[in-house]
Amino acid sequence: MPTTLTTHENLLDAITVDDGHPIYDPANGELIGKTKMSKPQDVDAAVAKAKAAQQSWGALSPAERSEYLHKAADAVKASAEALAQILAREVGKPLNGPNARFEAGACEAWLRANADFSLEDEVLVDDESGKAVLSYVPLGVVGAIGPWNWPMMISVWQLAPSLRMGNTVILKPSEHTPLSVQALVAVLNQVLPEDVLQVVPGAGDIGQAVSEHPDIDKIMFTGSTTTGQAIMRSAAADLKRLTLELGGNDAGIVLDDINIEEMAEDIFWGAFINTGQTCAALKRLYVPAAIYDELVQALGKIAAETPMGQGVSEENVLGPLQNEAQRNIVADLVEEARKAGATIVTGGNPTADEAGYFYPATIVADIDQQNPLVQIEQFGPALPIVKYDNLDQAIEWANELEVGLGSSVWSSDEQRAREVANRLIAGTTWINKHGAVDPRVPFGGVKKSGMGLEFGVEGLKQVAQPKVTSY
Ligand code: NAD
Repeated sequence: MPTTLTTHENLLDAITVDDGHPIYDPANGELIGKTKMSKPQDVDAAVAKAKAAQQSWGALSPAERSEYLHKAADAVKASAEALAQILAREVGKPLNGPNARFEAGACEAWLRANADFSLEDEVLVDDESGKAVLSYVPLGVVGAIGPWNWPMMISVWQLAPSLRMGNTVILKPSEHTPLSVQALVAVLNQVLPEDVLQVVPGAGDIGQAVSEHPDIDKIMFTGSTTTGQAIMRSAAADLKRLTLELGGNDAGIVLDDINIEEMAEDIFWGAFINTGQTCAALKRLYVPAAIYDELVQALGKIAAETPMGQGVSEENVLGPLQNEAQRNIVADLVEEARKAGATIVTGGNPTADEAGYFYPATIVADIDQQNPLVQIEQFGPALPIVKYDNLDQAIEWANELEVGLGSSVWSSDEQRAREVANRLIAGTTWINKHGAVDPRVPFGGVKKSGMGLEFGVEGLKQVAQPKVTSY
């Protein structure tokens, strides 16, 4: 069992390379460590090893592989604080709140859930005409390409079902957060057989090399829609299987019967989880005129009072943006909204720590549906709140964008909420919450938010080849 990789210093020592590419804490600019940057030939070497290792890994029984996943979960548990400390430094997300410790905990939970799912052979026909059985066999090597916002958790979302189904995995982490993913892999590889799980840190060119590699059978990708489209083109030559979890711009519709005092805090965290850098976060809120001012004031108050600061400080629950480009996207969108006449209720003026990529939690009111802050995924701590007079109009606004990852309805009346939920076009519609994911419940986007599902038994099926035996 793991004994050595249980402090963040040990973990960083294990993965950092002296002549590597420096990675800095987005909250203060301090050097955290230096990462290896892979070359295309490193991808070739990793794929060759993964292909060889898949033979024996794929030959294990599901129960044997599940046992490995439970050991992997134990290893994550033993190193959870060390992993959280690395996330707090590299992503900038605070240790507390729905952030770094929460993410390390989710890694353990998703490993255990995938270990425990059952996917049995299905007898489709068994009569005088004969027998037909549907089973799920490994695909081979899975290439998993990830973003920077939840780097460990999303890697586990990709690797846990893939390993469980007998595939070997090559992870390509975001160039912004390579240390987090390498730390996770170092922890997991204390218990997994050699070459079953490998990581090739690098930039987009390495992601492209993974998605074009002829010996990779499936790509699991989480990131922007534009990159997802590029991956689809790269994967076309070999008809690689694809799961694409892409960008969103989730709408939340508030009905006029909510108890503002009870629900405002949940609405706030639906939008500001991980300082707004979450795929399925609430990114535009539609509120009826009758309660508009009251809810806007309540959310503004929460935004102003919620502590933001260095990831490693225990008191904070909001942190910096992970990188400068993302911070500028948020700042520019808010500025454009201000110039168009919107009201900045709270935030808007970045006065925080010059050394970090901070942007204050910002509530924007009196904003039109056509404003870019409503139309474009801001992926940061700024929530536009659009007033509506007519529920049909709000539903139309919610549905009119090209993306459809999540959405939510907020109401004290379950029946009313479900009726509105049925009319929203999105992979998931939550009622009185937003963005809550569960390893047992399938998750995926519609329209340009992606294709395929993750989680649950459905997620296992997506990293396996359906095989029919008929006799
Ligand atoms: P991104 O698309 O810029 O990068 C994601 C990954 O793709 C990185 O590892 C990058 O190196 C790699 N990449 C870049 N070019 C590539 C290419 N040509 N071929 C292969 N790989 C390539 O996304 P990001 O900025 O890291 O993440 C933010 C986006 O991800 C947001 O739009 C967010 O909504 C989305 N996201 C979606 C989900 C989901 O589950 N649907 C979850 C998290 C984030």
